[in-house]
Amino acid sequence: MTAPTVDARPATQAASHHTDARARAAALVARMTLDEKIALVHGLFPPMARGKTKHELIPSAGHIDGIPRLGVPLVRETDASLGVANQVNQRKGDVATALPAGLATAASFDPEIAHEGGAMIGSEARAKRFNVMLAGGVNLTRDPWGGRDFEYLGEDPLLAGRMAGAHIAGVQSNHIVSTVKHFVLNSQETGRMVSDARIGEAALRESDLLAFEIAIEQGNPGSVMCSYNMVNGDHACESHHLLTDVLKHDWGYQGWVMSDWGAVHSTVKAANAGLDQESGQELDSEIFFGKRLKAAVEAGKVSMARLDDMVTRYLTGLIETGAFDTPEPKTPQPIDYAAHAKVAQAAEEAGLVLLKNENNILPLAAKARNIVLIGGHADVGVLSGGGSSQVRSVGGVPIEIPLKSGAAASFARVTYHDSSPLKALRAALPDAHITYVDGSDPVAAAKAAKAADIAIVFATEWRTEAEDVPNLSLPDNQDALIGAVADAQPNSVVVLETGGPVLMPWLAKVPGVIEAWYPGQRGGPAIANVLTGMVNPSGRLPITFPAAASQAPRPKPVGLDTLNKLEAQAAANPADAGNHPLKTFPIDYVEGSNVGYRWYELKGEKPLFPFGYGLSYTSFAYRNAKVTGGKQLTVSFDVVNTGKRAGADVAQIYVTRKGSGTPMRLAGFKRVELKPGESRHVTLVAAPRIVADYDTKLPGWRIAGGAYEVALARDASDRSQTFTVNLDPATMKP
Ligand code: BGC
Repeated sequence: MTAPTVDARPATQAASHHTDARARAAALVARMTLDEKIALVHGLFPPMARGKTKHELIPSAGHIDGIPRLGVPLVRETDASLGVANQVNQRKGDVATALPAGLATAASFDPEIAHEGGAMIGSEARAKRFNVMLAGGVNLTRDPWGGRDFEYLGEDPLLAGRMAGAHIAGVQSNHIVSTVKHFVLNSQETGRMVSDARIGEAALRESDLLAFEIAIEQGNPGSVMCSYNMVNGDHACESHHLLTDVLKHDWGYQGWVMSDWGAVHSTVKAANAGLDQESGQELDSEIFFGKRLKAAVEAGKVSMARLDDMVTRYLTGLIETGAFDTPEPKTPQPIDYAAHAKVAQAAEEAGLVLLKNENNILPLAAKARNIVLIGGHADVGVLSGGGSSQVRSVGGVPIEIPLKSGAAASFARVTYHDSSPLKALRAALPDAHITYVDGSDPVAAAKAAKAADIAIVFATEWRTEAEDVPNLSLPDNQDALIGAVADAQPNSVVVLETGGPVLMPWLAKVPGVIEAWYPGQRGGPAIANVLTGMVNPSGRLPITFPAAASQAPRPKPVGLDTLNKLEAQAAANPADAGNHPLKTFPIDYVEGSNVGYRWYELKGEKPLFPFGYGLSYTSFAYRNAKVTGGKQLTVSFDVVNTGKRAGADVAQIYVTRKGSGTPMRLAGFKRVELKPGESRHVTLVAAPRIVADYDTKLPGWRIAGGAYEVALARDASDRSQTFTVNLDPATMKP
């Protein structure tokens, strides 16, 4: 490109496509009565909406009647990113394929895996008669203890944005809508309805907003879901700046903004700020976009033009994705669950991260005859994360434990998918003697470990929407269990099923560690395949694992102490419960855009495992690297598999402007599969906005120009191959 002002948007966001859909939508809106328009901008929450529609209400997240005389379809909304959710079994016996955690998909660093997963779950949604999927969770992981970290795609805006975009495009390939959510800065669960996220404009544009911007460009979701929390003093669902100035004006977004469930607080302010639809209206304190909106329009407080825009956007999203023109099936359609299970397994196999492999303890040696599996319910299944994303998976639920208290108690249960690592390992190693002990007694576990050739401890940490974990330690004394086993058996491996980073006080004693995340419905075979070497691990951490909680910008959830105090008071005095709710409190995102690994670099902190890190059973080298600058920053090199097994590498480039004091940022990545000895030439072009800074005065993105430092790296801390290159100055629209 020769002009100094460049457009960083890919051609996929074709303007003419938008124009056609919008014109068609506007023509329909022109034929609607006021009541018909109003009916489309507020949706029912089926569990609480019995009798409010003459159409079948499928128990799920949302329902909006259509307008048959104009061909506007009925809309049924389902959660979420990991599969067609069925929280607390509200549709008795309705199962679906459960993908692994979003973090596992992100760890593949492979947008194709994200696309396949999205396409698979979207096809199940369509077959089950849903046409809006509340997928596309892309909140950046700012805090290692976040309750919903598992649902999202990690801490880096480029990685998360690209993976979310691919996932959304996959979902929408079924002619249904996917959302992207939760817009924006719903970074912690504690007090999510009342917290006020505070951050500067440039920092927000360069971090969380950038993840959404990339996801929207690449996935073109029909809808954006605004979040529960406040941002800089305004509720996210009534922030004119976020919804109108940034999303609709700067980014040219043409679809509709739906609220999160229970996130609307006003009629006039919200509508004029840019909220287009109130979701799950029964969960709000009042129905804000029904009669009240009609009255506001009649009184001129919300213009008819604005209401028309709300409806036009809704229809545009439905038309562009094909949901408008693809009638919902009258009855549930057959689903090829066997084929879909393979998609879930492939995602987990690409997302498992080998964190430690001293003396090549893995893959399990052929001579390992006597193996003991310990803990984590590895005899029956694998753990799932909780909350609205909860899928009731094909095969069933071997363990399901209700919660006694807390914000998640009404809609989450500790749930395992029926996918036993024990059974899978026995099937993979028919000649080995493989036993299981439950780990409740560390002494008994250590004894069993000592008697075996190798011990594999399954350690679990459950996370859920609506609550954060209070600290980063494995719960239920599992650190002591692992310590006892490792003391008794030097050949010990730990398989972690966690929803984010955990501390590993036993790390030095254990030669092998695998992060399996929440492994999804085919976690058992996926874990067994990595343990035995049928699959060569290739996942890379999409989030930094701290060595201590104090290294993170916030060592624990903000507001948690206050919340705990209120809950204790309520428990002591039930009559008074509910009278002292958690009040609005600020969360200062002091790290700004230096989220995750950038914070560690800025502070000179060495994490336990860096972002981008992950081992393989083979080895790779980067050779003949060539870096060019000028108008764009390009790094080309050969990736060589220098080991003896086929495997996949994830090459990464990190960039910063010399002398800027800004930590390095991930500017490109590529997953490459290679046979032993094979070499592949790779060219990575740095994403222009990653090389730029956001300039609020411009306003827009500015590449300052001058000398830039580039690292061709295995992970965020690798500086073994660095280069200096000159870039031309340039600016880009916001
Ligand atoms: C969650 C959303 C979800 C919605 C509908 C909310 O509590 O934050 O992610 O899509 O519920 O279930």
